[in-house]
Amino acid sequence: MLVIFGLSRKERPAGLVALLCAVCGHPGPQQLVRRRTRFTVFFVPVLPLGSRWEARCPACGTVRRLSAREARSLRAG
Ligand SMILES: [Zn+2]
Repeated sequence: MLVIFGLSRKERPAGLVALLCAVCGHPGPQQLVRRRTRFTVFFVPVLPLGSRWEARCPACGTVRRLSAREARSLRAG
């Protein structure tokens, strides 16, 4: 019997947040992204393994990793 299993990583944009880039100092809005990893069987996601939040600077492309709490507070305003 053949079982195909693996990992699926998807990212979903979660809006723009006001952050100051630590690398280039760009003060504008940054794209907030939630990345999720799931265990898959026959390409069907069956088990969530984790998620992480990132903010991407539009000027230099730096990706800043955020905690779930930071992301929630930024999204709330
Ligand atoms: Zn930057």
